[in-house]
Amino acid sequence: MDKKNSLAQLYDKVRTCRKCPLYKFAKNPVPGDGNPEADIMFIGEGPGEKEDEQGIPFVGAAGKLLDEMLSSVGLDRDKVYIANVVKHRPPDNRDPKPEEIEACFPYLLQQIEIIKPKLIVCLGRHSLSRFLPDIGPISQTHGRAFCRGNQCYMALYHPAVGLYNGSMRSVLFSDFKKILIALKKIDCMKGKNDTKR
Ligand code: URA
Repeated sequence: MDKKNSLAQLYDKVRTCRKCPLYKFAKNPVPGDGNPEADIMFIGEGPGEKEDEQGIPFVGAAGKLLDEMLSSVGLDRDKVYIANVVKHRPPDNRDPKPEEIEACFPYLLQQIEIIKPKLIVCLGRHSLSRFLPDIGPISQTHGRAFCRGNQCYMALYHPAVGLYNGSMRSVLFSDFKKILIALKKIDCMKGKNDTKR
């Protein structure tokens, strides 16, 4: 089955998911969006009000800033894939609870398995700590890439940080430039490994 159909099947499962109570408060599930062939997969925290209304991740104010940052490095939503650690909106935009993140995690793992991104960009501490619990606080790890097994990750502040604290915008934009540098390094590493085989 191709990636598009595999994702469509996964979205159907998310639509009827009752593994945690979040579906009870949400208007729409927000499974993910973007290019199934993407090299880069962004993983945020969870849908907010606008995302809940439209069923698409990062379409509110934080999403507008994400779009700006993508465009600043020559990317757009058609070139990347975007998902969240939880697929239904936590009420009143509260943080997702650990048990909600765990209930939803198998869906995220399936998305990663289907898309096979070269680089997973963790947006914010919830996403980062689920994948790389031991690397330290995001204040010290943002803008850096970490490879675990066959998968590489990059730690980035959540775009919402740039909305609450204007001085963080330049940090976010400068970290974004490092995404493409990390991708080039990954391609080099993979190239060398392929030659060895
Ligand atoms: N914040 C997130 O983490 N995800 C969204 O989809 C929107 C805002």
